Amino acid sequence: MKYCSLLLACCSLLFVNSNALSAEPRLVIHGGAGTIAKSDLTPKLEQAYLDQLKQALHVGYGVLENGGTSLDAVSAAVVVLEDSPLFNAGKGSSFSHEGRNELDASIMDGRDLSAGAVAGVRLVKNPIKLARTVMENSVHVMMAGSGAEAFARENALEMVEPDYFYTERRWQMLQRAKYPKEQTRIQPVAPLWEERKMGTVGAVAIDSEGNLAAATSTGGMTNKRYQRIGDSPIIGAGTYADNASCAVSATGHGEYFIRANVAHDICARLMYKKIPLQQAADEVIQQKLVSMGAKGGIIAIDNSGEVVMNFNTTGMYRGKIGPDGLEVAVYGEKAVISGE
Ligand code: ASP
Repeated sequence: MKYCSLLLACCSLLFVNSNALSAEPRLVIHGGAGTIAKSDLTPKLEQAYLDQLKQALHVGYGVLENGGTSLDAVSAAVVVLEDSPLFNAGKGSSFSHEGRNELDASIMDGRDLSAGAVAGVRLVKNPIKLARTVMENSVHVMMAGSGAEAFARENALEMVEPDYFYTERRWQMLQRAKYPKEQTRIQPVAPLWEERKMGTVGAVAIDSEGNLAAATSTGGMTNKRYQRIGDSPIIGAGTYADNASCAVSATGHGEYFIRANVAHDICARLMYKKIPLQQAADEVIQQKLVSMGAKGGIIAIDNSGEVVMNFNTTGMYRGKIGPDGLEVAVYGEKAVISGE
């Protein structure tokens, strides 16, 4: 009997290991969801977005191909997007009502549900690195403002002056958000409302050992006030990863995403209802959020490597890479643009 159970234990170990070794690495990223019409982007700007998405995918996937963890891959991909002035995260962050850049980020490791998050930081070049440091080098999950910055200094993270985050494009968005009447005289304000919550970045990945991870980083909503914090640094709302179900990074109107607990809800539906990832994402993004009047989207990957990019807006900057190739896209489902 004793030998029988030993044999069984060995067999199950072998089974787990062979499963783990056969996992195909995949990485999925987003650069924000919103009303993105072809007419909003010049061909040059559209190409710049696609190139930047491809670069982030290559960098993150390079990590996975070299045997790196999904945690390393999502961090690396998000750093590329944070360093780009195109996205509302890191370098290209939006401005608050007071004309400041207040950055939020979070990261989660699906292996053991460890997580780290930072909110309202103004002097840290890469908030996603700080979120990871909070996860790995502290007993806390979330830090904010000057406290988080002190922790960043103690951990030798790269600090910058506030004007590092200045981009003319985001500054003009703030002016248009603050003075909409003046804007109406120049051009229609229609895209403005959407601009306020577009451009957050995120990544989810599965590595060759079948481990999941998720990361999200944002400058938050343009013209935000009172040190408002959105869903992006909230574990369960903007970011979630659990090897038992899936990894999710969200982008959208944070006030709704927090209340709908979007990222965790999708993973929970997988676990409790035993439904496919696509259905779980549809239920949350296309039904629950729509019924609340909320706009946005998610990228997700489950523990079998199934990938979903789901949004209820007209577009979401997004891309995925795996053994079957690379794909990047901006507009709705039908306007997929692929590349190498
Ligand atoms: N979710 C972000 C926030 O509410 C914004 C975005 O995703 O564009 O701060």
